[in-house]
Amino acid sequence: MSSPSPQPAPPSSSSESPLPAARAEAITREFGHEPANVTALDRVSIAFDAGRFTSIMGPSGSGKSTLLHCLAGLERPSSGSVFVGDTDLAVLSESQLTTLRRDRLGFVFQAFNLIPTLTAEENITLSERIGGSRVDRAWIAELVEVLRIGDRLKHRPSELSGGQQQRVAIARVLAHRPTVVLADEPTGNLDSQTSVEVLSFLRLVVERFGQTVVMVTHDPTAAARTDRVVFLRDGRVDGELKQPSAEEVLAHLAPRDTEA
Ligand code: ADP
Ligand code: MG
Repeated sequence: MSSPSPQPAPPSSSSESPLPAARAEAITREFGHEPANVTALDRVSIAFDAGRFTSIMGPSGSGKSTLLHCLAGLERPSSGSVFVGDTDLAVLSESQLTTLRRDRLGFVFQAFNLIPTLTAEENITLSERIGGSRVDRAWIAELVEVLRIGDRLKHRPSELSGGQQQRVAIARVLAHRPTVVLADEPTGNLDSQTSVEVLSFLRLVVERFGQTVVMVTHDPTAAARTDRVVFLRDGRVDGELKQPSAEEVLAHLAPRDTEA
């Protein structure tokens, strides 16, 4: 047969627009009471596609941490909805929210938040131990290999470098295969070389495992390693860039003093 084989059918529209891993719909988050109230988030709508690495940037106080906390179910928005997959967090009780946080979300903190008295290995399997669910040894072994912490498993956090501690923290978060990993300035406590290294591991986790990661960063070079950067300003989304270069990110962040 010399005729070319038929092209595969285009994917159906349902597989073209899969459910985002997480999304916020018109969320507002207020702190305090009038007249001294602060609107940390003002009707923010944003969706995070599965398997993508997104960074969130914006000036201090623009609502980045509040957005991450709302997505993580650590804080409830004053109005609007947060979905993880197709689960609306607003309909969950506190105990259901706790379960969802444990099973489907992962939070990486600037300060690592490892338990000092436990070894790296014990820290990594902590949530499984507390939750009582089985530890998937093969999965943990794969994570340990990808994050290159195999020779550090018997060490306590104080015996590890900052970069190693953050890699252990990332392994701990990934141990239960979360739907989405939320990282609030995960390289904020690291020197620039170690930051690059931790960022490379996060990138690898996205590429190798199709993990969804949302990361707050102040570093345009870090943002340029992600698939998409979303800018916040005064609690609102202030544009975004896809596959950004560090220069494009810097240009977006530059003060816009057109109104002299
Ligand atoms: P970012 O992470 O971008 O620096 P945040 O989300 O931490 O910003 O804060 C956004 C705004 O909300 C700021 O004005 C901050 O002071 C305020 N805010 C955040 N958390 C609280 C809180 N728990 N109580 C009162 N105000 C808060
Ligand atoms: Mg913050």
